[in-house]
Amino acid sequence: MGGTFNPIHYGHLVAAEAARDAFNLDQVIFIPSGQPPHKAGLFVADPEHRYLMTFLAIVSNQHFEISRVEIDRAGPSYTSETLEYFYRMDPSVLWYFITGADAILDIVTWHQPDSIFRHAEFIAASRPGYSLSKIEALKSHLGADQLARIHPLEVPALAISSSQIRERLQQRLSIKYLVPEAVEHYIAKNRVYEALKA
Ligand code: ATP
Ligand code: MG
Repeated sequence: MGGTFNPIHYGHLVAAEAARDAFNLDQVIFIPSGQPPHKAGLFVADPEHRYLMTFLAIVSNQHFEISRVEIDRAGPSYTSETLEYFYRMDPSVLWYFITGADAILDIVTWHQPDSIFRHAEFIAASRPGYSLSKIEALKSHLGADQLARIHPLEVPALAISSSQIRERLQQRLSIKYLVPEAVEHYIAKNRVYEALKA
């Protein structure tokens, strides 16, 4: 599961756990992005902060792992390169890339969509405010075999976004119960989003 995780919240965790359950996955690997190519102009916390917050959020789940692959790679973080990396690590594994209903619609605009579908299948988790039925609209961009590799999944609806959490921090509002407690404390202790409060 890729993401900016700026910061990680319960919406990410619930989607990952629901995907693991539904698809009987051995592991879910969280991959915080390095420089997200599509997030120019927004405040993105330091990659090491995002890595550690993600680590804190997943460490208690024995099926959750974290990867530094995008953080340690120079230049923009392209999902196509990441999927190729995992595929090459073990081509015998059936790799799934977990996204929310919003991110899956961007897939066709991502770097090298053909390569993306060669190396993984996709689990598109429902997300409040975005309709999974829009996946059908990708028909005009994707072949039938590619479309068949996108698996929609209804997950418990949590209307939480990192943007909303950053806004709350900016306004000095509580983020309790939106993110794991360890993440909440990490943000406060390290003043991760202090620049937003100026
Ligand atoms: P931002 O508001 O900064 O874009 P975000 O909450 O969308 O943050 P991302 O890091 O952009 O979080 O998302 C990583 C992945 O998790 C994406 O595929 C996104 O669709 C999915 N996701 C995020 N929040 C939810 C949620 N509440 N329910 C289901 N999926 C989600
Ligand atoms: Mg997002």
